[in-house]
Amino acid sequence: MAQLTDTVTDHGGGVWSLRVPIPDNPLGHTLVHVVDTDRGPVLVDTGWDDPESWTELVGGLDVLGIGVRDVHGVVVTHHHPDHHGLSGRVREESGAWIAMHAADIAVVRRTRDAEPGTWLDYLARKLAAVGAPEEHTAPLLAARAAGGRMRTLPGLRSALPDREIVPGELLDLAGRRLRAVWTPGHTPGHVCLHLEEAHPAGLPGHGRLFSGDHLLPGISPHIGLYEDPDDSPELSTPFEQGGPPSAADPLGDYLDSLERIGRLGVAEVLPAHQHAFADAAGRVRELLAHHEERLAGLLALLANPLTPWQLAERMEWNRPWDRIPHGSRNIAVSEAEAHVRRLVKLGRAEPVAGTEPVAYVAV
Ligand SMILES: [Zn+2]
Ligand SMILES: [Zn+2]
Repeated sequence: MAQLTDTVTDHGGGVWSLRVPIPDNPLGHTLVHVVDTDRGPVLVDTGWDDPESWTELVGGLDVLGIGVRDVHGVVVTHHHPDHHGLSGRVREESGAWIAMHAADIAVVRRTRDAEPGTWLDYLARKLAAVGAPEEHTAPLLAARAAGGRMRTLPGLRSALPDREIVPGELLDLAGRRLRAVWTPGHTPGHVCLHLEEAHPAGLPGHGRLFSGDHLLPGISPHIGLYEDPDDSPELSTPFEQGGPPSAADPLGDYLDSLERIGRLGVAEVLPAHQHAFADAAGRVRELLAHHEERLAGLLALLANPLTPWQLAERMEWNRPWDRIPHGSRNIAVSEAEAHVRRLVKLGRAEPVAGTEPVAYVAV
């Protein structure tokens, strides 16, 4: 590994990373990876759609002697704007293809098609159903009444990918072995990409892994319910009580995906934030233990019946609940719901009959 500039790192074997800033975000930057192929450079993720980020991306490529128009393809780990934001602009300038897992392509399509008002309706309904108080949903409904233009979703104009990433298959990259590993959890179509080639510096293990947001060295990624109107709270009644058997369990998906990644035995992980690291299996164990602890803590809170909202208020966050801003509370309650969903699936908690909004209790 060699640091070429402050923002460009050579990871060896025709792989580089570029730090592309995320404006006004504590994460700081996305690591965009460049993979050399016999048909030209391919990017893994692209960065946030912002002029400054674009300038950094173009500047980083320039350090490697690559013009944006040379880019052959874009592989996107998941639909979030810090990963997929600039994909459209790269495609416009280069004619590159954009590949993404079908489940996240569906999210992109739905977001592009949705009226902002529809989204606000969905959010307000969803929050009310998990027990959000009126003072929390009121601003959403007011924005809806004002024409829904208050909130602009970053993904509203994001590029529709033109290729599907098929789980388990090698991507069509000339001269490289890059296999897609489906790792749902952070998003329904998140993928990690396994570069099945010997580590250039001889680190022991099976190749390298572009891990997106799935496996990061010092951050536990957000796992909330998938933002899917078809997985609405009204439909999320457990199967035993007449709900659909398919109610999504993102935390369960995530934990399964972690184990899948742990088993690959990769020599090095190249994540989309922070920095590269070697001990994938150790980090997987840490994250599994973290969620085990968190579920145990929640179970203790559920000794008395609580709605997901009440649960979120009582969970431990990085600051007290009354200092968590409105938008972050939505994310927090979604995370609480994902944990409740997991406990219900495990048979450790159940909804209390006759409660509205539904409260859950440990069994
Ligand atoms: Zn993400
Ligand atoms: Zn991210």
